[in-house]
Formats: sequence, C-alpha cells, structure tokens
Amino acid sequence: MSRSAHPAGPRHADVLPEGHYSAPPADLNALDPKVWAQTVGRNGEGVATVGGIDVKRLAEEFGTPAYILDEADFRARARAWRTAFGTEADVFYAGKAFLSRAVVRWLHEEGLNLDVCSGGELTTALSAGMPADRIAFHGNNKSTEEIERAVRAGVGRIVLDSFQEIVRVAHVAQSLGRRQRVQIRVTVGVEAHTHEFIATAHEDQKFGIPLAGGQAAEAVRRALQLEGLELIGIHSHIGSQIFDVSGFEVAAHRVVGLLRDIRDEHGVELPEIDLGGGLGIAYTSGDDPREPHEIAKALTEIVTRECEAARLRTPRISVEPGRAVVGPTAFTLYEVGTVKALDGLRTYVSVDGGMSDNIRTALYDAEYSVALVSRTSDAEPMLTRVVGKHCESGDIVVRDAFLPADLAPGDLIAVPATGAYCRSMASNYNHVLRPPVVAVRDGEARVIVRRETEEDLLRLDVG
Ligand SMILES: *Cc1c(COP(=O)(O)O)cnc(C)c1O
Repeated sequence: MSRSAHPAGPRHADVLPEGHYSAPPADLNALDPKVWAQTVGRNGEGVATVGGIDVKRLAEEFGTPAYILDEADFRARARAWRTAFGTEADVFYAGKAFLSRAVVRWLHEEGLNLDVCSGGELTTALSAGMPADRIAFHGNNKSTEEIERAVRAGVGRIVLDSFQEIVRVAHVAQSLGRRQRVQIRVTVGVEAHTHEFIATAHEDQKFGIPLAGGQAAEAVRRALQLEGLELIGIHSHIGSQIFDVSGFEVAAHRVVGLLRDIRDEHGVELPEIDLGGGLGIAYTSGDDPREPHEIAKALTEIVTRECEAARLRTPRISVEPGRAVVGPTAFTLYEVGTVKALDGLRTYVSVDGGMSDNIRTALYDAEYSVALVSRTSDAEPMLTRVVGKHCESGDIVVRDAFLPADLAPGDLIAVPATGAYCRSMASNYNHVLRPPVVAVRDGEARVIVRRETEEDLLRLDVG
C-alpha cells in the first residue's frame, strides 16, 4: 500500500494491516450500534428494521441495491456537532461526503453550514435554499466560472488554495464590485492517520500553500494587498478518518504561529481558524471514535492555549466534519445473487451492486462489516468475501466478513456505515445503474435520490 501523501480525500488511514481479518463475532445476528445507524434493530421475526420499517419491505418497494439513510440519526449527529461547538464555533458539513437537496435542508434546519468544492455542489446547495453566506467554497482548481458564480451568489467564504487563485478570486470579486471573504488553506506538515500522525518538514501534496519556506506568509502578504479580498482566516485540513486529536494539536500550533507572525508583520489579528474535517467513524466494531463533545472540547482547548501563549485573541474556530455526520447514518442493502464456496479458501458472496456503489474497498482497502438482515440464522459462521457484479476481480465490497453458512441467493445482506463517500463516489462502471438513496424516518420511507435508469444512460449517450 502506498504511503504517499493523499490528504484531503477519504483515503487516509483506510489502510489495514496485510492479511487482516477478525475472528468471527460472538453473535452473527447482532447489529452493533457502533456501526449501524441509530434506529436499526431487529423485529420479532428477526428482520432488520430502520426508522420502524423492515428491510424486506424496503427492498420490495425500492429495489436493491439501495442506500438506506436514517434521517433521525443524520439530524441527531448534525445537531450533536452543532451543540458540541456551541455558538463560539461554526460547523461546516463537507458536502463531498454525500450531498442531496434533502440533506441540504436538514443541515439548514439543524444549524450547520456547508462546504462545497464544485459548481455542481454549489448549485445543489443553493437550489435547496442553503443561505449563500453559510457556504464555503473549497477546491484546488476552481474554474473562473465557478469562482464567478460563487462570488455572485455571495458565498460566506472562498478557501484559497494557490497563488494563482488568490489573484483569480481577487480579480473576479473586484470586477463584480465585491469584496470576497476568504481563508487561505495552508499545509502545516502534518499527515494524520487513524491512530497516528506524521509531522513532516514539508508536505508533498496538491492542496494548500506550505507554511514551510515562508510561502504561506507570502500568500497572506499578497491577499492582504488585494482590494477584492477580505482575508478572514487560515484553513488547515490534515487528513481523514482521524481518531486522535494530537495531529490537530500540531496543526493548531503551527497555524497559530502563522497568525502570530501575521500580527507582528501586518498588525492584524485574523478572526478565524478552520481546522478542517477528517474526524473518524466506526466502520467495524474495532473502531472507537470520539464523541463530538470530546472533540469540540479538545480542539477549543488546544486553540485557546496556543493563542494565549502567542498573546492573540482566540479566533473563531470552524470544523468541517463530513463522514462523521453522514457516514454512520446509512447502510447499503443488497440481495445475494450467488454463493460460491472455494474449498479450503473462502466463500464468495456476490451481490447486485459492487464497486460502482462502494469504491472505497477497492480504492483504499477500506474495511467494512456486513450482516444478514432479512432473517436471523443459527448456522455456523463462514468466512466470506462479499463481491459485486462488475467485470473486475478487485470488485470487492467487504474483503473479509463472517456470514452464516446457510446464506443463500435471495437473502438480503447489508453493509453499514456507507453514508459517506459511497453514493457520492458512485460510478456507472459496466453501465450499472447507481442505486437510490432512501431516507427513512418514523415509519415512513421516501426516495431522496432516485435510482438511475437505463433511460438516464441513453440520454447522456447522444449517439
Ligand atoms: C474531505 C474534506 C473534509 C471532510 O473530511 P471527512 O473525512 O469527511 O470529515 C473537510 N474539509 C476539507 C477541506 C476536505 O477536503
């Protein structure tokens, strides 16, 4: 597995020790609340339910595969982040984890702000009524057209990622007679992984402007001189699926150092610091993420302490959780198509989706769990690999999973914690149709993103 720098995507720390799989769980029918959405359980017949609806009914009504999203859980997690940081900080949901108009409305109602990183995400956010001043626009290569749209819409901040972009955004803003609020994204030389972080002298990656060598200080100098820009703060995002705040500690120390240098050189104290996202979730029972209030307390203390040491007023903090809001709230519901036992090796279980609806296993060696959900079983555990229907041997959904030995075609199985970076990274590989997202709440289910159809495919293919 490559260990090269790959910070902003969900790749970080998704790397498992080689040959890793856990022993069979004590109870194959158990649905560990750590990895399943809040309202998931089993009914009297042993069928899994979510939001009061059983998965057999969901499969009948909406088909498989389908992403089933627990709306109450989504709202509760969004609210937990919001209340954990209180009024002294802003929570920006990272839209790239999963964005739809229903999600935008929930975020708006729960008091969260929104990160977007493309014209498409911006359009989705605005079309669902997210106030522009609560939107932050990210990305390392925003087009001039995207910048123009963002400035015209009045987004609350644009996060500047390069020297060219500083000039580009300033130019657009000025020509529109605006002064755009911006942050500068810096790379602090911290690479965070699940259980560790690596502090390096400089970062070999495409995002941000390095603190090292005075580049970030130079970017600040230029931004402060440009009339079209109002520099409100410094942004740092150190990785994804992070369980430990020590990486944030080093990042905050270095960002506050820059804020201090800015004050000393320019006599201005920038009012905001954004520590990015990347907060981890439990993909399997072995993961132990921290609660939002613990993260909020730790990050606030770190920034306050660093600022006191630098004799700076504590800036307003913002954070950008994506996966930690939506990841645990959904599962992917599949129907088993074939069960192929390879003697002495393992059993391959083929489902009706695969790498087109969950690319993370193939892309990052991500770890997932899986359970039989259309019934319970007392059969012995068998070691399986859950694979998709694509023409690709790397088309693996769950690399190593224990399922009951009586598993058979027609059974429904579900993979939990697929709310983030699954539908948003879904593809049409093999012209397989992207599954719907079905939101379930209080006994009601509704499609929030419909299933793709073959008509959709043919409409794009203009012959
Ligand atoms: C990807 C990303 C996030 C969200 O990461 P999660 O792991 O989903 O929390 C936040 N901020 C920035 C700048 C990102 O690139």
